[in-house]
Amino acid sequence: MSIDNSVVDTIGRTPLIKLQRASEQTGCTILGKAEFMNPGQSVKDRAALFIIRDAIARGALRPGGVVVEGTAGNTGIGLALVANALGFRTVIVIPQTQSQEKKDMLRLNGAELIEVPAVPYSNPNNYVKISGRLAAQLAASEPNGAIWANQFDNIANRQAHIETTAPEIWQQTEGKVDGFVCAIGTGGTLAGVSLGLKAKTPHIRIALADPLGSAMYSYYTTGVLKSEGSSITEGIGQGRVTANLQGAVVDTAYQIADDEAVPVIFDLLQHEGLCLGGSSGINVAGAIRLAKDLGPGHTIVTILCDHGGRYQSKLFNPEFMRSKNLPVPDWLEQRNALSV
Ligand code: PMP
Repeated sequence: MSIDNSVVDTIGRTPLIKLQRASEQTGCTILGKAEFMNPGQSVKDRAALFIIRDAIARGALRPGGVVVEGTAGNTGIGLALVANALGFRTVIVIPQTQSQEKKDMLRLNGAELIEVPAVPYSNPNNYVKISGRLAAQLAASEPNGAIWANQFDNIANRQAHIETTAPEIWQQTEGKVDGFVCAIGTGGTLAGVSLGLKAKTPHIRIALADPLGSAMYSYYTTGVLKSEGSSITEGIGQGRVTANLQGAVVDTAYQIADDEAVPVIFDLLQHEGLCLGGSSGINVAGAIRLAKDLGPGHTIVTILCDHGGRYQSKLFNPEFMRSKNLPVPDWLEQRNALSV
């Protein structure tokens, strides 16, 4: 028998899929870790589970307690599903700019949603800071405890990737992995996977794929936190060195503009049946750049972070894309044109 006791036990153990066209184009083997196949359809289910388990182990959360978080959406969805399965409540603070689909999914999963204007981290009304203050208030009043998941600076986040994602990649490639590349949101994935893989194979090249508007490319190339431009991608880009990133080694950094990442996303959907969100496009574009730098014959792993269904109103909406001056493939323009 092969039965999972709860949806929580189905988090992780995701497939590693060869990306055919990226591999052909570069002469490398480019592999995508299919994190959109987690029950919450994103890589953040892993962090959500580890954060909640850690809070239970510390005695901070008891049955009926509340999990509070500021999130671009995916962490909230992961927290909500884990909380439902384990008997907790969730309160989520989200910037208004995030996709409607993620907000709907959060509400559907029973999260109490607080939408706030998107303001920089330096502003006391930034969504992350509001969530921290709210958690402190609830911790004082909730009889069964309330925690602030604090995904940016709670290293239970990266621990999920040290203990699960990195060993899975190692096993799935039988240790034959030359490079790993991904973007930074909290940095949990990049730091956790790279710490896990470097411990096994110190020669592995760890690369950052950074969208415009993020300060990480500048930080890892010059030591200065500086950002320019913007991106339609959600959940990635960072303006500071989070606790999750501390001690992680980034060997190479690429800055990837949306007009490089978006065609990759459309290509994967049209030719490989992979329906992915924008951050996966940044990651796969980064993997292609790393493959070109390493040369043919290498094996490179990246993360397919979340499912594209979450971005129908944006990335897959021709009107939205045109408003951002981004390319729209003909098949997307014409997909409703077939009449029978
Ligand atoms: N892609 C998406 C769509 C995300 O929501 C996130 C998490 N914010 C990431 C990538 C980045 O993951 P991490 O927080 O582990 O850096």
